[in-house]
Amino acid sequence: MDIIAAVTRGKSEDFLVETIQIDDPRPGEVRVKVIATGMCHTDLVVRDQYLPVPLPAVLGHEAAGIVDAVGEGVKKLKPGDHVVMTFDSCHQCPSCYEGDTVYCDNFLGINLLSAARPDGSTTLSRNSEVIHSNFFQQSSFASYAMGTEDSVVKVTKDVELEILGPLGCGIQTGAGAVMNSLAPEAGSTIAIFGAGSVGLSAIMAARIVGCTIIIAVDIMPSRLKIALELGATHTLNPQDGDIVEAIHAITGGGVNYSLEATAIPAVFCQAVDSLAVRGVCGLIGLPPAGTKVSLDMVNLLLGRTVRGIIEGDSKPDTFIPKLIELYRQGRFPFDKLIKFYDLKDINQAAHDSETGLVIKPIIRMPH
Ligand SMILES: [Zn+2]
Ligand SMILES: [Zn+2]
Repeated sequence: MDIIAAVTRGKSEDFLVETIQIDDPRPGEVRVKVIATGMCHTDLVVRDQYLPVPLPAVLGHEAAGIVDAVGEGVKKLKPGDHVVMTFDSCHQCPSCYEGDTVYCDNFLGINLLSAARPDGSTTLSRNSEVIHSNFFQQSSFASYAMGTEDSVVKVTKDVELEILGPLGCGIQTGAGAVMNSLAPEAGSTIAIFGAGSVGLSAIMAARIVGCTIIIAVDIMPSRLKIALELGATHTLNPQDGDIVEAIHAITGGGVNYSLEATAIPAVFCQAVDSLAVRGVCGLIGLPPAGTKVSLDMVNLLLGRTVRGIIEGDSKPDTFIPKLIELYRQGRFPFDKLIKFYDLKDINQAAHDSETGLVIKPIIRMPH
């Protein structure tokens, strides 16, 4: 079937909007008519080939849409269902067997590096040319995208579908890191480093769970202003002075929880140094492979914990509907982060995201 897609053909090159083809769904696959797809930092990291995903490929991994066709054996979904697309896992490693699919041994291979089905074939092509597909089991900068039964989440039809895509990646990552991973108790304190879409989602979640001090740290005053609207009780700009000292002064000894969402080593160290004794720092920013930091061992000995978090420890089939209900109740207003673009303007969206002008671009697909 012919579809319209934004194809990435070369390192750091602009997305090219082309007519290409998508297969019919094979057993276990679900084809989705994409209404809109969020753009995430990872799409741009891969466009720039900091991660070796084979090209040409269709990126995009925050889709919302309507099920168009399902392959043999699919039980969870049927044509017409409203859905959000998310990551998949291998279902045959120790983490998967124990239900921790975000820590699947094969997470990177399945969602990023293979850019194909498990048998090596691609769901996309252009006449006889291979177009790499299955990016986060979606490749959804396109009018149609192929997922699997396990990577496609059914959602309510009561909410505007075109805003929901980012719940499948950036927003579940930030909200889940707080609600699922760190799980701060009501009345505790937290600092969030980096107020992009992931960090701001974490701030909204911190308010939901009842943190009483929520400190947002960012170098952009516009983002700190939004952070205050979404639930931050304090904002700090590193350009105004020592962040660690300021956090210890606000809290009288450090925060109970901190979250690093910038992937900058020096910021990660500040997030750890801002902790009170027994505090926990969550690491969610994705730096280039091999990035090292140096931490004070004595500081860590005093009961402090550092832990890495993937996709907010989300179990998407249940967590995404919970976030949608919190949104409906006005307690998780993630629509405030969004700006819409048409597919033909996808390069403008990438530019506005990189310059920080827009927090969460969403690309509307032509139909
Ligand atoms: Zn696995
Ligand atoms: Zn993402």
